[in-house]
Amino acid sequence: MFSVQHLNFGWLHAPPFPPACCHGLLIRTPTGIALVETGIGLADIADPEARIGREAISAAGFQFLPSVTAIRQLEALGISPGDVTDIVLTHCDPDHAGGLADFPNANVHVSAEEKRNLDTGNPRYRPAQFSHEPRWVIHDRDDSEMLGQPTRQIRTALDVDIRLVPLFGHTHGHCGVAISADGRWLLHAGDAYYLRGELTDENHPVGQLATLRADDNIQRLRSLDSLRNLTNRSHGDLTLFGYHDVAELPPEILSLEDVAKSGAL
Ligand SMILES: [Zn+2]
Repeated sequence: MFSVQHLNFGWLHAPPFPPACCHGLLIRTPTGIALVETGIGLADIADPEARIGREAISAAGFQFLPSVTAIRQLEALGISPGDVTDIVLTHCDPDHAGGLADFPNANVHVSAEEKRNLDTGNPRYRPAQFSHEPRWVIHDRDDSEMLGQPTRQIRTALDVDIRLVPLFGHTHGHCGVAISADGRWLLHAGDAYYLRGELTDENHPVGQLATLRADDNIQRLRSLDSLRNLTNRSHGDLTLFGYHDVAELPPEILSLEDVAKSGAL
């Protein structure tokens, strides 16, 4: 059995902007269980100010909804948090790393550049989210590639080909995550774009926010170009999606409005 499931691990809503999701993946094989991204976690919900900080909470519009956390959704699927063997992070921003502490047994895979950015105290990161001392696995450059794009092979407990795909700029070590399935590639682009429309519209209005949030905006623009090249080179063998664009979530996932209405907070 090999399955990849698209889930939403959190909501951000800072009006007048529309809600943004935290699109993650649950990957299962008989030998292991992996998450791509962890969204907003239970510890964030228990103590938002200490974990994320008032400024970031209101700027990004963090919503604290226990039923939307990765751990609660996995439990509902009959998966115990201790069974998660691997977590792959595109980067360590607070809306991506918040759920790490809910899965203390997992190996946590990031690029060497991202770990260095975290360790050198870039103020965008929240040290409280890493105080449980995750089991880091650091990935440096290797000679692998996907559709002409350099990648880094990740060794996990799963018998699946999973790669980090350097898409630097949003943060100094930001990477996409590629998964090989049935002769095709799934590519999670993380925050390389906020909205898919940025790939076709170089003057997309959300680009202003992306520019503000980038550690290195020139690199960020190069990474957007890499994604454009990848989509042009692929012949139906690449499925691309990002972390925050609600339109890229599967339709069965509850909207923020629906979560509020269902009372399953
Ligand atoms: Zn983000």
